[in-house]
Amino acid sequence: MIFPSDSTIAPIVTRFAPSPTGRLHLGHAFSAIQAHDFSRHRGGRFLLRIEDIDPGRTREEHVAGIAEDLAWLGLGWDSDPIRQSARLPVYAAALDRLKADGLVYPCFCTRAEIAASASAPHGPAGALYPGTCRGLGAAARAARMAGEAHGWRIDMARAVAMAGPLTWHDQSAGTVVAMPAAQGDVVLARKDAPISYHLAVTVDDAAQGVTDIVRGVDLFEATHVHRLLQALLGLATPRYHHHPLLTGADGQRLAKRHGAPSLADMRAAGQAPGLLAAALREGRTPVGFGVVQA
Ligand code: GLU
Repeated sequence: MIFPSDSTIAPIVTRFAPSPTGRLHLGHAFSAIQAHDFSRHRGGRFLLRIEDIDPGRTREEHVAGIAEDLAWLGLGWDSDPIRQSARLPVYAAALDRLKADGLVYPCFCTRAEIAASASAPHGPAGALYPGTCRGLGAAARAARMAGEAHGWRIDMARAVAMAGPLTWHDQSAGTVVAMPAAQGDVVLARKDAPISYHLAVTVDDAAQGVTDIVRGVDLFEATHVHRLLQALLGLATPRYHHHPLLTGADGQRLAKRHGAPSLADMRAAGQAPGLLAAALREGRTPVGFGVVQA
């Protein structure tokens, strides 16, 4: 055992948190193995969370597919998986707290309006919200809320001022100074979905006692926002391990749009899961995305 006698050291808890919007592919398998092995090698727990908060893109058959694919790869998880769609009241309570603190505001803008805004500044993830709805007076806000669809955005400047300076720890980058302001007034509840990824993931990682977040480096920038939300909601800050993304022979990130086969495709093609998992553990990408042989 790694922590045999010191009960003050919390056991490691990691998670894999896919969105059931398609079948899992090799990039998911690589990420799941990283999170699973990180915990298991330290005698810890590995959790599965289904991030099914986007009603437009979630497909029920992919939820079953995720469990099937992980089991096929030999990755077992602890406890029943939680589904974000079953936790909407918990996210609503977190949003209410931010509303009570005056840190969010309703936003009525459409994507097209934001894109058309000549004044839209740019951040690491593209165009930043130009702040159109931030300055609405209380009466105008109330009148529009009564009749118009709206999401909720964080008032980033106020939130950053309230939280003060923040840092987080990343295994590769070391101590990182949180710079959420670079992402502007991000959406915390969407017009077309009850809650945003940022808020749900932050609330759930804390609720599930995740000590170490092992996920792809494509989510590194999101961590700045998650760190801020942790501070505003009084939640613990886990350690972060942003792993490199698996790339194909062409150096491109693996994703369905680049033609990476799903794990289900590989299984159907006769792939032995043990060989595939071993290759991924060594950081080897199956050549041409074909079947991995010994
Ligand atoms: N649900 C997210 C995705 O599938 C991952 C969330 C996370 O690991 O923080 O991209």
